[in-house]
Amino acid sequence: MINVYEQYWYPIINSFHHGETALTPHIGLSTAEYTALADTVELPPIDTQDLPQYSAITLRDELLSMREDELNDLTELLTDFMNTNQPYAAQMAKVIAVASMGSQHLWKDLGMPERPRLSQLFHDYFPQLHALNNRNMRWKRFLYRQMCERGGDYVCRSPSCETCTSYNECFGDEV
Ligand code: SF4
Repeated sequence: MINVYEQYWYPIINSFHHGETALTPHIGLSTAEYTALADTVELPPIDTQDLPQYSAITLRDELLSMREDELNDLTELLTDFMNTNQPYAAQMAKVIAVASMGSQHLWKDLGMPERPRLSQLFHDYFPQLHALNNRNMRWKRFLYRQMCERGGDYVCRSPSCETCTSYNECFGDEV
């Protein structure tokens, strides 16, 4: 059985500590949730103000507060599809929603070592979304496509992917 702490939570928190994510203070969670997860993966919890990237993290937090509706929509989508049998599933939905607001590929903004690890994370934490992404769409684009289909106005300017000028942005390699 996959140890989700070792596979996912450790790299997320470790990358956050090294300034290699697009996450906000406490990886986007409450102080208590972040501390509990850091303790579980045996990394020392660090006060955001003690991180070398403190100013960048707080700036990101301020910018995200201006996109609160979008963040809430992403969190709601992920929460609706989360596998509640996994530990800290609601927290994973929130962390991925925050990372999705970053500017790089989702696996990088989340702090995963490579894209396949992120796909595995979706398989374990959001199995229905993993199954729905059967064309291997870029994960961020896929999430926004899902929000688009739920009635949001986020990505798609074309009714069909095949005729869309953004095709390569949605389906190109995520490297
Ligand atoms: S290729 Fe175009 S239509 Fe398809 S998901 Fe991307 S933006 Fe939307």
